[in-house]
Amino acid sequence: MIRVFARKTKWTPTDELAFYDEPPLFDLPDLPVRVNCVFTRDKERAIKLSKAWSRRFKDVLCGGPAFDDAGGEYIPGRFLTKAVTITSRGCYKNCPWCYVPRREGKIRELTIRDGWVVQDNNLLACSRKHIEKVFEMLSMQPIPASFPGGLDLDLVEPWNIDLLRELQKQHKLATIWVAFDTEQSLDKLSRAKEMFGGFNIGRRFAYVLIGYKDDTLDRAKSRLERVYEGERGFLPFAMLHDQNTDYEWKKLQTKWCRPAAYRKPSTSGNESIINSKYSRASCG
Ligand code: SF4
Repeated sequence: MIRVFARKTKWTPTDELAFYDEPPLFDLPDLPVRVNCVFTRDKERAIKLSKAWSRRFKDVLCGGPAFDDAGGEYIPGRFLTKAVTITSRGCYKNCPWCYVPRREGKIRELTIRDGWVVQDNNLLACSRKHIEKVFEMLSMQPIPASFPGGLDLDLVEPWNIDLLRELQKQHKLATIWVAFDTEQSLDKLSRAKEMFGGFNIGRRFAYVLIGYKDDTLDRAKSRLERVYEGERGFLPFAMLHDQNTDYEWKKLQTKWCRPAAYRKPSTSGNESIINSKYSRASCG
């Protein structure tokens, strides 16, 4: 299958059948073409690309999260690089800013495929059996695992921490991600500080959603500072709302998604494991 992407990211594949533009001049096999669009702001470009590919290929479809696709079984390497795995879709919550419940419905467990970047919307909403199998798979991967899909602080239980500790013991844990989306989440973060205390601060991140409807730059900055200055046990990582493309917001996000740019020298830890290009599947 030929895949065409409306935007290139760290996680989109780069094999010989992955494209980011209109069809190339050279010959290609007559395969189905799937145009994939993740961000709603790229929809127009995705439609334009579909039209361009339709002029040369018969079977062209345009879809992806931005077009509210519910998503089926996850195939590593197809729309995301083989580093990424998605072992469940959907979510049991209905956070008003989130597309997941509307697009993917309630939580459903998928076949567990290899990968070390866990992009499930809400892994901890899955059954214990499923979660344990996911950790088993992660312990066998060549690269330490990260959880940019987010670990839901409402669901974290001591046995989840034990699983993370076990990964850490095997040197198979890179980063843990949680979310600070509302004022109430601040208390949750503070409570979680102790639970996650056994993990290096340079491995613990809290997504801070900014730039959604009615948010202001001052309020967003204050939330980011409250996570950082308040030493809640996680480093803030600004996530700009999908539909916000304003320059000032982008500037704020750029600073607050790079710990090297906001951490005070005396508190800097292991920066090398931090990757500012993480993209969140949702938040958890
Ligand atoms: S933001 Fe996270 S917890 Fe809330 S509905 Fe979306 S995936 Fe679920």
